[in-house]
Amino acid sequence: MNQRDFISYCQSELGDAYVLVESKDQVPYLSDWRNRYHGKALAVLLPKTTQEVAKIVKACDQALISIVPQGGNTSMCGAATPNDSGQQIVLNLKRMNAIREINPSNQTMVVESGCILQTVQEAAKTQGFLFPLSLGAQGSCQIGGNLATNAGGTNVLRYGNARELCLGLEVVTAQGEILHGLRSLRKDNTGFDLRDLYIGSEGCLGIITAAVIKLYPLPQTKWTALVAVPNIPATIELLSLFQKRTAALLSGFEMMSKDSLDLTAKQFPHMKNPLTNDPFYTVLVELSDHEGEEHARNLMEQVLEAAFEAGIANDAVIASNLSQAQSFWTMREHITMAQAQEGANLKHDISLPISELDTFITETDQLIRDQFTGVRIINFGHLGDGNLHYNIAPPLGVNASEFNRVHEEAIHDVVYSQVEKHHGSISAEHGIGQLKLPDLEAHRGSVAHQLMRSIKTALDPKNIMNPGKVLP
Ligand SMILES: Cc1cc2nc3c(=O)[nH]c(=O)nc-3n(C[C@H](O)[C@H](O)[C@H](O)COP(=O)(O)OP(=O)(O)OC[C@H]3O[C@@H](n4cnc5c(N)ncnc54)[C@H](O)[C@@H]3O)c2cc1C
Repeated sequence: MNQRDFISYCQSELGDAYVLVESKDQVPYLSDWRNRYHGKALAVLLPKTTQEVAKIVKACDQALISIVPQGGNTSMCGAATPNDSGQQIVLNLKRMNAIREINPSNQTMVVESGCILQTVQEAAKTQGFLFPLSLGAQGSCQIGGNLATNAGGTNVLRYGNARELCLGLEVVTAQGEILHGLRSLRKDNTGFDLRDLYIGSEGCLGIITAAVIKLYPLPQTKWTALVAVPNIPATIELLSLFQKRTAALLSGFEMMSKDSLDLTAKQFPHMKNPLTNDPFYTVLVELSDHEGEEHARNLMEQVLEAAFEAGIANDAVIASNLSQAQSFWTMREHITMAQAQEGANLKHDISLPISELDTFITETDQLIRDQFTGVRIINFGHLGDGNLHYNIAPPLGVNASEFNRVHEEAIHDVVYSQVEKHHGSISAEHGIGQLKLPDLEAHRGSVAHQLMRSIKTALDPKNIMNPGKVLP
């Protein structure tokens, strides 16, 4: 099949309206969220059913056309952007957005991969359940993309990341076969775990078309507080204190540095930190409780009192209603948006053993400031699970693209060698994509890298699934 026949075939299978071949129609699908990567595509395809996806992948397999699976296109590492050859297709799943089932007895939901995360959360809520995956891009990212990147977000501390929230998958393999794995079992030890291979594979092994996801009882109440903390060791002590005293009720523990909140207030003036005296670090704590309002509020107050007594907190404000709690979360979630508005910056989505966080930050801040005078270090993260977003913006007044062009490699080298030294990971939740592809082998080691290659070759021998991402 040549390219022209391939396009005609897709048009006959999907309908002309869902095969975008004109450049003007393709624009939203060809660049990444950070506007760092720009590609071209032979066509952007918008299938509606698993069968349509299977037919297209079969045709791609025959015509040797490579496929870039795409969800909400919010990847932070260029994982869903085609290359500039104009020979790849983008297969965007947004039309596969049906919620196939909500099963209250199983506490599961069967969703198609193109469902927007927020829609999934809302559908679960209408039935009295919580789907806990929660992240800043939830209004645009899709559940298929969340699973393909094993997304984390703000609730990992209590509920785990996307992998832990998924029981079964329906996948179209690289040969266009349908793997029917929509099982809602919590125990299933029947050979190699294929589901776990596809989760986190960033579209390089197959296309996730639907998933069985786990639901949880909706907490009766949530109490949210912002706490001013003098330094990182105090932040870690505060985390331990909350873990000891509130156990499984602790559902959020987000750390935000003074610089990250100053930047957010600069870009979004209505999002000022309500804590006065400019704390060095602000922690957002959330308790989710099934025992009624008073229980959680009392606990929150008791732990905060103990924190004041221990000298690990200087100030705190407990949200007095839902809308105030929401405003705390909105401020936290807007740090990424504020950075994007301020200009290009160098992102490091890393994780570290919690016991290493303080030394990592102290040493790395020093190394970066010594070598790159005037840079702004914006750090914040899901501290409860050791996930730090350690981002570097150029000195004020300096052209960001030029600064990044000259210093990007050297800055990554400093940060990633520090990550290795402190036994961390160079990608906590965003994945590898094309951004971190050059760093993966050194980080994971040659044995792990070779095993990943063997898996890729076994499942996608013609290398048509998202080539150039994750593995070179
Ligand atoms: C403002 C903002 C905040 C964010 N916050 C967080 C956060 O807190 N935690 C976090 O983990 N991430 C965060 N992210 C990044 C995060 O990875 C994505 O938001 C999300 O998980 C990706 O989903 P998506 O649908 O946009 O996927 P895309 O960006 O479209 O794709 C991502 C990868 O998945 C593959 N893919 C997509 N759909 C499928 C499918 N159906 N089958 C197979 N492969 C597929 C693509 O090929 C690509 O490799 C944030 C992003 C933004 C913009």
